Amino acid sequence: MSKDSLTALAQMLIRQRSLSGEESAVVELIISEMQRLGFDHVWKDKNGSAIGVIKGTLPGSTLLLDGHCDTVGVAPGVSWTHDPFGGEIKGGVIYGRGAADMKGALAAMIHAAASMDRSRLKGEVVVSATVMEESLEGASLQAVMEALAPDFVVIGEATYLNLNRGGRGRAEIHLETIGRPAHSSSPHLGRNAVHDMMKVIRAVESLPVKTDPLLGQTVFALTDIISDPFPACSTIPSRCRVTYDRRLIAGETSDEILDAIRTSPELQGIGLRAEIATAEHHTYTGAILRGTKFLPAWTFPEADSFIQACLHGLRTAGLHPKIGAYRFCTNATYSAGVAGVPTVGFGPGREEDAHIVDEHLELKSLIAAKKGYRGIIDAVLSESNGQQGSTVPKSSV
Ligand SMILES: [Zn+2]
Repeated sequence: MSKDSLTALAQMLIRQRSLSGEESAVVELIISEMQRLGFDHVWKDKNGSAIGVIKGTLPGSTLLLDGHCDTVGVAPGVSWTHDPFGGEIKGGVIYGRGAADMKGALAAMIHAAASMDRSRLKGEVVVSATVMEESLEGASLQAVMEALAPDFVVIGEATYLNLNRGGRGRAEIHLETIGRPAHSSSPHLGRNAVHDMMKVIRAVESLPVKTDPLLGQTVFALTDIISDPFPACSTIPSRCRVTYDRRLIAGETSDEILDAIRTSPELQGIGLRAEIATAEHHTYTGAILRGTKFLPAWTFPEADSFIQACLHGLRTAGLHPKIGAYRFCTNATYSAGVAGVPTVGFGPGREEDAHIVDEHLELKSLIAAKKGYRGIIDAVLSESNGQQGSTVPKSSV
């Protein structure tokens, strides 16, 4: 397969490392590619996200295509068969960190938007390459959306060319037990916070699991635990803290999740603090992204006019999408879960290919994704899109 400019961009983006908070160089690459491709307006916002606009000649809606440009790192001591920053192409597959999550999608979005016929577009297409999604989902997209007020959002995280109309959310929960220190030669004189935490863990992990027909099940996963003092040096620990990652289904609130733990009958009499973690991250521009780690789930009904327009656009582009939902948390937790703006997920690659050793993307999937984005833009913004002969109404939900 000869290398086209879309593949070349994906390769260039993969070759440029871009851990969260270190996206400066990749953002410069994206900005110069948007300028080269003739975007009407290209800039970098205060968080350092790259934004490019293609303006249609007719007035209409704003459709935002978002892809994050940061990636997770490469775990030390784990060897890759292909250089994680080589962008190597072998057997129709491109390898490297970010290939599936989600530099391929970003390249496809940029090329799709740039290839549209402006004379047929009602409104504008915006592509955002947002920073720090791997640290705090939704935070940098929030700034982009506050500046541009899009009517519709497409998140390019991996769907294997299917169309997602929902996604699970996530909460990071800190639980702390408070006991009383004593010399370990007389443990009965203290109260062991680790023993209390063992009861807390049993109670949390026996809370009922909830199920959503689209999003699947809620999950409580213990991700870290530490006692204090550590090491304890013959002292009964007086504090113990665990972190739980809780995957959310639509409609769940932080109060309801914390209350279920606090009011658990087995835990009465235990000194327990339960709270949602908070986060504060510095972007490479020096801006600060703050937020609580409660990132709500989202769903839109299959009959929603934006979902139907996207489906129509993808089919017109020759794709055969199934309708589904993300199991992982994406920037849509803000666009759909918080802001309530009609949002879909569509991207090349598979969800399970994110964050893995030998991360990769099939080139045919990359090329199909560009066609898919073009189909969606056409169905949502073009003057005659074949669906009732008009663009999607702004208030589709
Ligand atoms: Zn991602």
